[in-house]
Amino acid sequence: MVVEVKPEVRPKLGMVGNVAGATTEEIQHLAREQLGRDSLLGPYTHVHVFWLAGMSCDGCTISVLGAVAPRVEDLLMGSLPGLPQILLHHSAVNVESGDPFVEPMQRALEGTLGAPYVIVYEGSVPDETRAGDGYWSAVGEEFDERTGQFKQVPSSVWLKRLAPGAAAVIAIGTCATWGGIPAAYHNATGAMSVMDFLGRDYRSALGLPVVNIPGCAPVGDNFTETVAAVLLFLQGLGPVPEFDELGRPAWLFGETVHRQCTRAGYYEEGVFAEHYGDRECLVEIGCWGPVVNCNITARGALNGLGGCMNVGGPCIGCTMPGFPDKFSPFYKAPPGSTISGTISRLNGSFIRPLRRITQRDRNRETRWDRQRAIPSGWGAEYDVPIIERTVEFFYNRLRWRGSSAKPE
Ligand code: SF4
Ligand code: SF4
Repeated sequence: MVVEVKPEVRPKLGMVGNVAGATTEEIQHLAREQLGRDSLLGPYTHVHVFWLAGMSCDGCTISVLGAVAPRVEDLLMGSLPGLPQILLHHSAVNVESGDPFVEPMQRALEGTLGAPYVIVYEGSVPDETRAGDGYWSAVGEEFDERTGQFKQVPSSVWLKRLAPGAAAVIAIGTCATWGGIPAAYHNATGAMSVMDFLGRDYRSALGLPVVNIPGCAPVGDNFTETVAAVLLFLQGLGPVPEFDELGRPAWLFGETVHRQCTRAGYYEEGVFAEHYGDRECLVEIGCWGPVVNCNITARGALNGLGGCMNVGGPCIGCTMPGFPDKFSPFYKAPPGSTISGTISRLNGSFIRPLRRITQRDRNRETRWDRQRAIPSGWGAEYDVPIIERTVEFFYNRLRWRGSSAKPE
C-alpha cells in the first residue's frame, strides 16, 4: 500500500518505519478516500484497537499478520461490509512512536477518543512489584513526582486503566489467556493470565468478561474471525458471539483436535507411529490431541496450510490452561494413552482385516467380478481368495436385506 505522506503529521513522529509505511491517521484517511464512504451499516465508522504486549515473544502478532479470513489488511481498511474500520495501535507495526503513540491511549482514558476501543493483550501479565526499580514490560513513560524522573509505564498498568472502558478485552495467545510459558513452574516474574489479573468480576463496557483466544502461537484466523464477530455485535448487526465457560469462541474450540485430525483413522484402527516422520497416529510419541481443545488440524496454521499433526508434530496441548506444566515432559506418550491405545489396537486387529476385504472388493467393477479378470495394464490381477468371496457373499446379502431393489 502506498500512502501519500502528510508533512503536517510526519515531522511530529520519531519514525523507524513499519509495514504499511503510514500513520494510523493516514491509513484512516486513505480508507475513506478509496472507499468513498465510512461504514455503510451500523453506528460506528471506526474502532480503536490498543494492542498491549506483556511477557510475549510476538508470535501472536506474526500469526495475526498472516491471517486470511478475514485479513488484517481488510480490517485496517474497513473494507468488510458492516464492520467499522480498525485503527490499530501496535508498537511493532505502527509508524508512531513515543508521545504520538501513547496519546490515543491517554485520550481513551479521558473519554475524548470519539470512538469505542478494544484492548488486545499479547503475552502474560507479570507481577511488576517483583521488578524492583526496573520493569518487565512497558509502554511509554510518565513523570514520576516521587523520584523527579520519567519512568516507564508497565503494560499491566495500561491494561488496568483501560480495561473498564473497553468495548472488549481480548487475550490473544496462551500466555495472555492462561499464563503460558512465562507462568510455568518456578514462575520468576509472577506471570499470570489477563483473566487472573483482572479478576472474576471484570466486565467490559459491553458487559463481556475477557475473551480468550489461546494457542502458542494461535491460529491467526481464529483471532481475526473473533474480532469480526465482536465488531458485528458492536454494530448491532450480529448476535453475541458464542463463548464457552472459559471465554473461548465456542465455534472454534468446541472440539478436540483429535476429532478433526487427519490421522484419527489410524488411531481408530490401532496403528501408531514409532518414529517422527511416520504417517500414522502420533499418540505413542507424545500426542495429547484426544483431550485438547484446538482446531488447527481442520483450519491449518496459515492460509489453510500446516497445523501440528498435519505436518508430523504431536500435540503438546498449547491451547490449554494446563499448558505447559500439565503436558510436560513433551514428546512422551501420555500415560492415559496406554489404556486407549491398547483398546484401539485390539479393536483394530479385528476391524482392519474385515475393512481390507471390503475395500479390495469395492476396488473392483462388478463387470470384473463377472469376468473374473481385470483388464488393467498396471498389474492388477483378479486374484480373490475363496474366503473373501464367501465373506462378500454374506456381506452383500446383508447389504440388500430389506431393500425392494435387487442386484442383477
Ligand atoms: S496424532 Fe494425535 S490428534 Fe491425531 S489421531 Fe493421533 S492422537 Fe489423535
Ligand atoms: S494441535 Fe496441540 S500443539 Fe498444535 S496448536 Fe493445537 S493445541 Fe497447540
